[in-house]
Amino acid sequence: MRNMATDVIHAGEVDIRFSGAVVLPIFQSATFEYGGAGSYHDLKYIRLNNTPNHEVLHKKLAVLEGGEAALVTASGMAAVTTLLLTVLRNGDHLLAQNCLYGGTVTFLTNDAVDFGIDVDFFAGNDPDSWEALLRPQTRAIYVEPMSNPLLEVADLEAVVAFAKKHKLLAIIDNTFASPVNFRPLDIGFDVVLHSCTKYLNGHSDIVAGGIVGSKEIIERVTHRLNHLGASLDPHACFLLHRGMKTLVLRVRQQNENALRLAHFLQAHPRVETVYYPGLETHPQFARASRLFGGCGGVLSFEVKGNVADADRVLSRLKLSVVAPSLGGVETLITRPVQTSHSGLTPEQKKMAGISDKLIRVAVGIEDGDDLCEDFDQALKD
Ligand SMILES: *Cc1c(COP(=O)(O)O)cnc(C)c1O
Repeated sequence: MRNMATDVIHAGEVDIRFSGAVVLPIFQSATFEYGGAGSYHDLKYIRLNNTPNHEVLHKKLAVLEGGEAALVTASGMAAVTTLLLTVLRNGDHLLAQNCLYGGTVTFLTNDAVDFGIDVDFFAGNDPDSWEALLRPQTRAIYVEPMSNPLLEVADLEAVVAFAKKHKLLAIIDNTFASPVNFRPLDIGFDVVLHSCTKYLNGHSDIVAGGIVGSKEIIERVTHRLNHLGASLDPHACFLLHRGMKTLVLRVRQQNENALRLAHFLQAHPRVETVYYPGLETHPQFARASRLFGGCGGVLSFEVKGNVADADRVLSRLKLSVVAPSLGGVETLITRPVQTSHSGLTPEQKKMAGISDKLIRVAVGIEDGDDLCEDFDQALKD
């Protein structure tokens, strides 16, 4: 098998070089000459997700995740919602992990009910509690490889075994791991989702999503997306294609930087706690080491002191931009209670273990020594 560093460059590329161009040009054409298509979905049209810019991404993403087929979408949320509205119908029940991405949780709690879809949330590290939540209408189980912002690693092998035993579709939003660090289809998941906005594009300049799975499921999702209309624009396809070519280099550097910064912070006298699955002290360190090639670029920590002390660190950092999102080349930093988790009540925050002074770092590809030095000066009295 070829290595992923080669696949990001060569997998899925077209054989023809248009006028000799080394790079696939942007096909900025809404419609294409009729080529004898027998079905609506085979007409060539941007919304039908089948321009050359879409097709190269579909093939490359499928190879990277080890799936039969893939589809790109207008955002990560478009991937999440289009998949769920394809595999679930009125009357169906979904089991969802209790610490998913905020947009996904809000869709499940606010919107899915309007489509007659019922959801129960479960603890990713308590497999014994899952069976009690099963119903005859349960169709799928949905998880993420590590939670945001505390980087809890669910019992992913138990999720796959549970799904097989109860004939559920096993879905994972693999955004936080990226295929460089974890390929869920290899351990038995059925469908992989991505916010390609993050690691896959890697440059914080577009939003995009992706879905990978069997040919059969991707064809069904494509038909639904063709009608829902959340297609990725060809120019965004081009940027995603360009970004994906450096995925392996970027993620390796981010793994290294995050681990280095996690060790640095853990040893720092002004830091109270560090959350990163690559640290030996993390409760799921053994599982993360077994399943993941690296633990990714996101880590969280608490400084000694109060919220004002946390905010002082944020304001003093010179290399980190205070902004949500992750997976880009530049380091981003947030206090989750101000951004991703601002909708939680005090009780919910307490339940989730997210304190007001918790800081989340999404490292970029800067030099690791420079990042640590910047945190060191920001943590000084
Ligand atoms: C960002 C994110 C999403 C949503 O992606 P968008 O591209 O912003 O729509 C979904 N899941 C996870 C885990 C994310 O981090």
